[in-house]
Amino acid sequence: MLHRLGLVAVLAFACGGHAHADSPGPQPLPMPSAIPAPQDVAFPGVINLEIDATDLDRRIINVRESIPVSGPGRITLLYPEWLPGNHAPRGQIEKLAGLVIKANGQRLAWTRDVVDVFAFHVDVPAGVKALDLEFQFVSAVESAQGRVVVTQEMMNLQWNSMVLYPAGYYARQIPVDLSVKLPDGWQFGTALETTSTTGADSTFKTSSLEAVVDSPMFAGRHFLKLDLTPNIQGPGNVSLNIVADRAALLPIKAEHIAAHREMVSQSLKLFGSRHYERYNFLLALTDQMGGIGLEHQQSSENGTVPGYFSEWDNYADGRDLLPHEFTHSWNGKFRRPADLWTPNFNVPMRNSLLWVYEGQTQYWGLVLAARSGLITKQQALESIAVQAALYDVRVGRAWKNLQDTTNDSITASRRPLPWRSWQRSEDYYSEGQLIWLDTDMLIRELSGGKKSLDDFAKAFFGINDGSTLPVTYTFDDVVKALNGVQRHDWATFLRARLDDTGEPTPLDGVARGGYKLVYTDTPSDFFKASEANRKNTDLTYSLGMTVARDGKLSAVQWDGPAFQKGLTIGAQIVAVNGTAYDADRLKDAIKSAQKSTDPIVMILRNGDRFFSESFEYRGGLRYPRLVREDKTPARLDQILAAR
Ligand SMILES: [Zn+2]
Repeated sequence: MLHRLGLVAVLAFACGGHAHADSPGPQPLPMPSAIPAPQDVAFPGVINLEIDATDLDRRIINVRESIPVSGPGRITLLYPEWLPGNHAPRGQIEKLAGLVIKANGQRLAWTRDVVDVFAFHVDVPAGVKALDLEFQFVSAVESAQGRVVVTQEMMNLQWNSMVLYPAGYYARQIPVDLSVKLPDGWQFGTALETTSTTGADSTFKTSSLEAVVDSPMFAGRHFLKLDLTPNIQGPGNVSLNIVADRAALLPIKAEHIAAHREMVSQSLKLFGSRHYERYNFLLALTDQMGGIGLEHQQSSENGTVPGYFSEWDNYADGRDLLPHEFTHSWNGKFRRPADLWTPNFNVPMRNSLLWVYEGQTQYWGLVLAARSGLITKQQALESIAVQAALYDVRVGRAWKNLQDTTNDSITASRRPLPWRSWQRSEDYYSEGQLIWLDTDMLIRELSGGKKSLDDFAKAFFGINDGSTLPVTYTFDDVVKALNGVQRHDWATFLRARLDDTGEPTPLDGVARGGYKLVYTDTPSDFFKASEANRKNTDLTYSLGMTVARDGKLSAVQWDGPAFQKGLTIGAQIVAVNGTAYDADRLKDAIKSAQKSTDPIVMILRNGDRFFSESFEYRGGLRYPRLVREDKTPARLDQILAAR
């Protein structure tokens, strides 16, 4: 205590040349007055929103909007910031440009809130019935500026990027009349109900702002709509709306359509209910438009590779995308974490239950892909091996618990990370998937095979069949529903897996499923295909790095052999054992070193610096696989089998 006082006195003497006893230093100014909080009251009037999306060359979306006002005074307009499904404040406010606000033909000044930069204040004079807005959404023209949403062949219109709405109301209380002008000859898919289409212009049935934002559009020059429920017309119908870079990508084999139909059928069997009037999958086959997988209650935005259908056998690793996003109609949209649900798009969301929202969806996405034949049982097992191995070496689990990773979507904002294995990265998805696998297996074991996580899915997500009104839940509700299926101390079980650090990888599910994670010197077909799709050589489990085609390291495993040599992402392998780099030569060198006393010698480059490193690594090539353990029933096989 005395020592600390002495230090303060010395500092005051040293830095306090201008200090006065009566001036303690700067004090904060009060914050500006708060923006009106959303209220659950009817908005007086209907917002008219007109979108012109015809400027394909410049990728500029022009917006005209009319917002009714109830009298003179200050009104605050909000640009959506917290976007459902993004788990983070991702509204692209920097792309709102050219904002002009008029009333009765006179231009009104606007000012942006100095604290909340997504809020605009306008003083409305007397005699004004509506504000007339004009602005542009200047969408990214290259990926460095954000996700490209407009190409010459297709576009992804997300209305939250092209609307301002009044503060003070729940989003479900604000009616919106939307109309859209598309390029000539384009067709579109959306969950919104079309009231008229005349040439390039379409108008939609009046819907709440909440429903409009939850119903984006894929439009394109090359378009195909497939019915996934030919036996269900009217309410309950599910369709697949496909846009593609080229018309040649659109002929789709009957067996592939059948697998997608089966995916819908298996999902309905699993949940025993639906929470959509009609469901529209929006699917883009493209390497031009930016990738996406975004859930909505009655639709989903899915971006995938051009060869999704035409090179079917190569893309098993992306085949859980549609079942994942479809599952979200139940898990995430209909049943929504209570702290995540917000009344409008400018109230912060809290992510504490994303390990249910995303973790269990990740689980069902894979299971439904296997049950429907989108992937084979073998591919599903190989996929589980990949996830299990990933967490087997995710050393960041030593300091950061799984619960804390639910903040990653906000803290890292999906930017590339230098040390992913140490920093962790939204692990509530795939480590969450392992925890639900574990839960499913434990329910099966404890109930003697009578119950499973399927029963939880029906009990938790299957309620209120036909209702689209979200029902929120808490951690305790999850525990209660699990206990309703099979009694166990689920709260302790889950909290240990969420809150403890430094625990072994959650592989009990694999073991109870009758399998064991092992490493072999050849990759599984799934692993190989995944390497090809990622355009890298994945040596995570041997030298602790992944290498891009040009020899540049694209990931380095914390504490692994490459890390120990001081290597980082960006370093480039120039030569291996005296010969120019090539992935096969590197793999051959790893294999030879296993039976030799010679090191693997690499010449590397990082920037302008060239250097050489010798690896005394003798572990050979290592790739994850699941192998059958005969003493336990093959419960994994049961889970993956069609219902
Ligand atoms: Zn998801």
